[in-house]
Amino acid sequence: MLPVSEIFYSLQGEGLRAGRPSIFLRLGGCNLRCQGFGVVREVDGKRYVGCDTMQAVYVEPFGKLWRGYDNSLELIQDMEATLPHGKSYDIVLTGGEPTLHYSDSVLIEVLEYFQQKGRSITIETNATVVIDFEAFPVYKACTFAMAVKLSNSGEPESKRINDKAISRIFTQAGERFFKFVLDAEHLKELSQEITALTSRYDAPVYCMALGHDAQTLAKHDKAVFSFCAANGYRYSERAHIRVWGDRPKV
Ligand code: SF4
Repeated sequence: MLPVSEIFYSLQGEGLRAGRPSIFLRLGGCNLRCQGFGVVREVDGKRYVGCDTMQAVYVEPFGKLWRGYDNSLELIQDMEATLPHGKSYDIVLTGGEPTLHYSDSVLIEVLEYFQQKGRSITIETNATVVIDFEAFPVYKACTFAMAVKLSNSGEPESKRINDKAISRIFTQAGERFFKFVLDAEHLKELSQEITALTSRYDAPVYCMALGHDAQTLAKHDKAVFSFCAANGYRYSERAHIRVWGDRPKV
């Protein structure tokens, strides 16, 4: 069963393909927790801390809201049903960490279907899972948005950096870029971490402000913007958060 947390249509809010109409397929489950991002939610009197998509991370208490798919046609129908128009659109595979399920046959069939229709597919990943591109060549034509986690995620380096996984994406994927979430207070340390990574892997770097709502984004965005300008990185807005906050399905 492929665990699906959300299916929705929106505009891509960040990164290389920002602004493009897209169907989002958000899979459930993640191998990290990223409590350093500090988003807090209370469910049934219990407090959960993590990232702005924790509804796709924690099996308890959110897993009961996920839907398991064992049929790709059904999933394709549900995805296409979200489209409000007959014009062009992208597919965004996100999570949680969607590559945990990279070999799932339902997922492969869905990706192949949309690829055959000429849709651009972006995979939003923390780049910690070593993907077998030879066994599953559908991934070779995908764009990988590598949101490699830095120390501000609160995760130990041994869990958040997997050079084998990153280097596999670099050598096999059609297109890839880094995107990093930065906070104003730790720019110096984070800058060193980004330099260390990007000296090993040459790809466009997008930096975005930390925040799960417009108010928090506004605390960090000017510093991150200036940091990008000073270092030759690209600044990415997080339009979905700026406009909608941490509402699901946007
Ligand atoms: S890797 Fe991404 S989805 Fe998983 S906990 Fe961290 S920020 Fe959230």
